[in-house]
Amino acid sequence: MTLTMTGVRLTYPDGDRRLTALDDVDMTVGPGELVAVTGPSGSGKSSLLAVAGTLVTAEAGTVTVDGVDVSSLGQKGRDRLRRERVGFVFQQANLLASLTALDQLLLVAHVTGANRETARTRACELLDYVGLSAKSGKRPHELSGGERQRIAVARALMGSPAVLLVDEPTSALDAERGHAVVALLRDITRERRTATVLVTHDLRHLDLADRALAMRDGRLEQFAATTAR
Ligand code: ADP
Ligand code: MG
Repeated sequence: MTLTMTGVRLTYPDGDRRLTALDDVDMTVGPGELVAVTGPSGSGKSSLLAVAGTLVTAEAGTVTVDGVDVSSLGQKGRDRLRRERVGFVFQQANLLASLTALDQLLLVAHVTGANRETARTRACELLDYVGLSAKSGKRPHELSGGERQRIAVARALMGSPAVLLVDEPTSALDAERGHAVVALLRDITRERRTATVLVTHDLRHLDLADRALAMRDGRLEQFAATTAR
């Protein structure tokens, strides 16, 4: 349950030049470790998660997920690794309006072809784990923002992620609910031994993390309170 990135570089086309989104990034996140990444908008935080989660391939450097070198895999292998070993939680919960909380989780299992009975048991356990058993039959419009985000967290755990990648999960929540979601992520990280990366704007969340890093123009540095803004 480890994520490592060494010498990772990523650029995007930008007119007749290239924009450097990730510049020689090194990062290791161990099992049961929650690492917070903060930094200004456009500094490369989402790009970092996209490369860590094999959604985007780095131009240089090495990424390993749970001991597997991503560059050794073809597209199918990467898709499979991502499905089975990576969990994503984004800024918006991205739930389907017509599905109940339980069905949001079961849909993942359906897509991955998991056994229906096993999937149902796991989905119920996870809803219980995030404190939403009583709401399993509710649709997104019947849930609060915090509850929707908890469902997104439970959904990310439907595989058995070694790596959990979370991109500004609390920006649509008030401070108290936001803090509760981050506390849940910390507990999950400890109990399930995931290597978790949490991108956050909210410096109050850094207290819940094991380590804090700062992204600045594509470079990853130690977080220092004096350089926070
Ligand atoms: P952050 O999440 O910290 O706001 P991003 O990783 O989204 O930063 O973006 C880093 C830089 O890369 C920004 O300058 C952004 O405009 C640029 N960028 C991000 N995604 C793309 C893309 N798909 N194509 C071109 N440029 C991109
Ligand atoms: Mg972003």
